[in-house]
Amino acid sequence: MPAPWQARVLTLFPEMLPGPLGHSLAGKALARGLWTLETVDIRGFARDKHRSVDDTPCGGGPGMVMRPDVLAAAIDAVHGKAPAGQALYYLSPRGRRLDQALVRELAVSGGVTLVCGRFEGVDERVLEARQALELSLGDFVLSGGEIAALALIDAVVRLLAGVVGDEGSLAEESFAAGLLEYPHYTRPPVWEGRAVPEVLLGGHHEEIRRWRQAEAERLTRTRRPDLWESYAARHETEATRTKGTRKGTIKP
Ligand code: SAH
Repeated sequence: MPAPWQARVLTLFPEMLPGPLGHSLAGKALARGLWTLETVDIRGFARDKHRSVDDTPCGGGPGMVMRPDVLAAAIDAVHGKAPAGQALYYLSPRGRRLDQALVRELAVSGGVTLVCGRFEGVDERVLEARQALELSLGDFVLSGGEIAALALIDAVVRLLAGVVGDEGSLAEESFAAGLLEYPHYTRPPVWEGRAVPEVLLGGHHEEIRRWRQAEAERLTRTRRPDLWESYAARHETEATRTKGTRKGTIKP
């Protein structure tokens, strides 16, 4: 069995973990030792008598900022002993947007250290000094990094070997081929007057595959023109390559 994937999470609210990750697929995988979770209370690294972890922003303004000395001590204690090649991320709305490609990279990297911010965020110097990469869940503002950390870990864990029962479902799902997934149906065959598409009941595997591919393309084209453009460009490049010609507009 490969070494378990390691998640290290630094937070001011350690009781928020494993939270939803203690249930269902991720929870079972955690219990089976397919991944490990080390939750670290940043407050445990505070040194003054009030155990303060934050202070007012230099230059004024609302809210509080997490202190660099306390956070750096926590990072050094936890990430300092992480195997080489495992990244240190600060969850932040300023960061690179998390996507399935990065999730796949993280899944094969052995593990990750995640810093959850609170209040207005963390002192910029600690990010520079510890070379933390910034990672965002999307263009919206959460009240803390914990939900983003949970989302990232959940997305990674379901890709680990042995976590999802039928690994075929990972190969077909949204983003696997650069497309959104086709629609699903189950019994009953007619519900509130709506019938399951006939092709799915006919048992003709090649026709079903073609229908699903066409639906995935249609949904991607209409809902996510950005994804569609890069998918189409990639396929155009491939088609051109196999023909051995370089006609058409090939996007990089
Ligand atoms: N003042 C900051 C927001 C702070 S929100 C700003 O305007 O950019 C408090 C914490 O929540 C942040 O430190 C970060 O860790 C987390 N957070 C908020 N939104 C996030 C997002 N979209 N992705 C990941 N983490 C987020």
